[in-house]
Amino acid sequence: MSPEEFRASGHQVVDWIADYLRDIRDLPVLPDVQPGELIDALPATGPEHGESMDVILADFRNLIVPGITHWNHPRFFAYFSISASGPGILGEMLAAALNVNHMLWKTSPAATELEQVTLGWLRQWLGLPDSYFGIIHDTASTGSLHAILAARELASPGVRLTGEHNPLVLYASEHAHSSIDRGALAAGIGLENVHHVPSDDQFRMRPDALATMIEADLAAGKKPFCVVATAGTTSATSVDSVAQIGEIARRYQLWFHVDAAYAGSAALLEEHRHILDGATQADSLVVNPHKWLFTPVDLSILYTRRPDVMRRMLSLEEAPPYLQAAEQDRAVNLSEYSLALGRRFRSLKLWFVLRYFGREGITRILRRHMEMARDLAQRISTDSRFELAAPVLFSLVCFRYRGSDQNNRDLLDRINASGRAFLSGTTLHGKFVLRLAIGNIATTEDDVRQTWEWIRSSALPATGSPAAEPPRPL
Ligand SMILES: *Cc1c(COP(=O)(O)O)cnc(C)c1O
Repeated sequence: MSPEEFRASGHQVVDWIADYLRDIRDLPVLPDVQPGELIDALPATGPEHGESMDVILADFRNLIVPGITHWNHPRFFAYFSISASGPGILGEMLAAALNVNHMLWKTSPAATELEQVTLGWLRQWLGLPDSYFGIIHDTASTGSLHAILAARELASPGVRLTGEHNPLVLYASEHAHSSIDRGALAAGIGLENVHHVPSDDQFRMRPDALATMIEADLAAGKKPFCVVATAGTTSATSVDSVAQIGEIARRYQLWFHVDAAYAGSAALLEEHRHILDGATQADSLVVNPHKWLFTPVDLSILYTRRPDVMRRMLSLEEAPPYLQAAEQDRAVNLSEYSLALGRRFRSLKLWFVLRYFGREGITRILRRHMEMARDLAQRISTDSRFELAAPVLFSLVCFRYRGSDQNNRDLLDRINASGRAFLSGTTLHGKFVLRLAIGNIATTEDDVRQTWEWIRSSALPATGSPAAEPPRPL
């Protein structure tokens, strides 16, 4: 591709992105497609001869985009709503152009150091201690796996070499993210040795139950080694008591990991800083800028107080000759702290985002998201056909139609099939509930209000009251 051709196609692409971000509200959030549709629409074999960018881009617009679930849509309220902000997208484009792999300091000094600088800024904004070492992983799942591996290394130092260990036990609340179970699985801990601690009526881990379970496991000859607290659970954004759980972890000398993938961003706000109270004692913590910090997927941060352990757990007796790098003061070789050798230049987009918005700009947007959530909760609580299903702590609203689980599932299906908004569901206290997660940078009060009106008009009339009109599908 010649520079001229690149320039021409590049302008087309940037124009398309600008239009997309401007007009995205007009697109259905969920595509109206059947499984296999794209596979059938595309040739079964790759092109023998090269094609022009015009043809490729036309197919992108006509075949790919219609099958996309628009995560960047302001009425994407499912799971956790995310955003690729303008500065984040531009940073991603430049990172692709530079195509560096900063596995070692010398393979890209600026990429290595920008990662340290951006994570240092964020660490300060989150009120975390200076002693925290930060590293970027693709996802929180990968970050938490590294934390569990480090915990295992500390608890049974020989395992790294021999592959054998005593039955180690990891604790997390029954509402912990599945990535913790899977991390333990991948680390060879065994699913049976992941003990789920019961939670209270607000979905927070019960510290007293944790202590009891640890005592019982010790008495049974097992070896507790790690406890995971969640600051912002996925189902309901409940916040475990990081301080109390940290104290128990310290008492029993367990590795203490904090999963703050979603709600960690909220700690940028003074009034929410307390959710990480006690995190100064944590051995590790994950937070996802690709979740609620306007940074394109993927970028998750793992902070740890014990980089030495994180490095040791993955170290070979002797590094292969092609990777031997001179130890130099200040020259960090980030790949020594992660299973992946190659590293994308992810910090560039985060740096763009942090600088473009500034701390003040970011906190303003996060606050607005939370206000919209509180406002919605207020509306829900004044409609007798609905009820809130969990406290609204951040920007997620869990609620349900006062009817059967099936009524609620049907309601969710009707809303999502309309293409106007996308919500997801979960189970709380044994009941199916709807989740409306606000987190996209372009979401407005109107988006939320409109969606609530659609939900109301798609719901069955109150049980017992005369049905004035049949339920209107959207
Ligand atoms: C989303 C989420 C994760 C998983 O994040 P990935 O980056 O997709 O691996 C882990 N923990 C919590 C609490 C989450 O909300």
